[in-house]
Amino acid sequence: MKPAPPLVFRNGTAILPDRLLPDAVIVCREGKIVAVGPGGKVRFPREAEIVDARGGYLSPGFVDIHVHGGDGADYMDGTTEAVRTANRAHARHGTTSIFPTTTTGSPAQLDAMLEACAVVRREWTVDDGARVPGVHFYGPYFAEEKVGCHAKSGRRDPAAAEYRGYFKRGIIKVATCAAELPGAEAFFRTAARHGCLATCGHSNASWDEMARSYRAGMRHVDHFWCAMSSVPSMRARFGPPMRGSMAEFVLMHREMSTEVIADGQHLAPELLRFAFFMKGAERLCLVTDANRALGMPPGDYRFGSMVDGPRIHSDGKVGRMPTGDLASSVVGMDTMVRTMARASEAPLPDVIRMASLTPAERAGVAGQVGSLAKGKLADVLVLDRKLAVKRVFIGGCEHRVRRLVL
Ligand SMILES: [Zn+2]
Ligand SMILES: [Zn+2]
Repeated sequence: MKPAPPLVFRNGTAILPDRLLPDAVIVCREGKIVAVGPGGKVRFPREAEIVDARGGYLSPGFVDIHVHGGDGADYMDGTTEAVRTANRAHARHGTTSIFPTTTTGSPAQLDAMLEACAVVRREWTVDDGARVPGVHFYGPYFAEEKVGCHAKSGRRDPAAAEYRGYFKRGIIKVATCAAELPGAEAFFRTAARHGCLATCGHSNASWDEMARSYRAGMRHVDHFWCAMSSVPSMRARFGPPMRGSMAEFVLMHREMSTEVIADGQHLAPELLRFAFFMKGAERLCLVTDANRALGMPPGDYRFGSMVDGPRIHSDGKVGRMPTGDLASSVVGMDTMVRTMARASEAPLPDVIRMASLTPAERAGVAGQVGSLAKGKLADVLVLDRKLAVKRVFIGGCEHRVRRLVL
């Protein structure tokens, strides 16, 4: 069989991690990037298949390490169909590598979710949407008072007898636990030993609990400012003196990374700007934290499992609990990128880095994805000048956008 002709992207500005490369040429062969350089300098054969970026941008595909669902499906539905439905929904928004994220739930529900993700990862084709490099094991080890929109009934303390089985599957790449729970340090040590990004989330942890967890390998905090401790929450927990919380711990430790839900609904523009200023593009990730209402009309949905997940409402802009508190986002990574670009005033390479290379590095998959670099998978987006997603290529194959018929 004749090998497929190379795929060449041209007539666009490539967004590299450290700079913009105008009039770039990107050559891909057999699903991988083989050359990136200025037009006129990079050669390619005449039979190449050309993708014309029409004066827009060529961006690495987005990497989302914290996401619950889309197009009506939540990963905790626990079926391969739900995983594929959500992955297709996010591919439309430029996400090419996705880390399906667990919520609180029973061991059987968590097992079903991990199994469904493993099957989709193994059998992946471009029609399935974003690729699954791994899973974010998020719930159930949350602090009771910081459980947020997750089902309280499915929350519990970490127990090695339970989580050992999950880690053994080899699909978990990001692993969350509230640092103040009994057994948290052992959990973080196990996560780090399995090569995971160990993260503290849905937590009211103190500085000391964070410091102990840091020594056990914890290096990240989920959705900064959301469902986490603060100086006032420490005062409520311990009384005077004022104490450091998760926020100060993350801001002071260079090695700690975090993430923001940059949908314009969870955090005001000045907080997005502040987070970028304090942590920089190498330690701040953009995440969607999107629930199943992404791509769906406003209305009532379940957060987590279709069977027993708590009710939330989507107004088309954001999810809300019955109390009115926020319950995760309903928009894709392209919206996060545009909102962050506007709010942070960060250079475009930094904004894109936070949605691609930084999450890939933190989750340990930057050798394969996260930037337009020779040797990496050909996950390439064509964006227009306003950063709208025009075309999506995953492993050198175009993902044809199939909109959900409602
Ligand atoms: Zn959360
Ligand atoms: Zn979440």
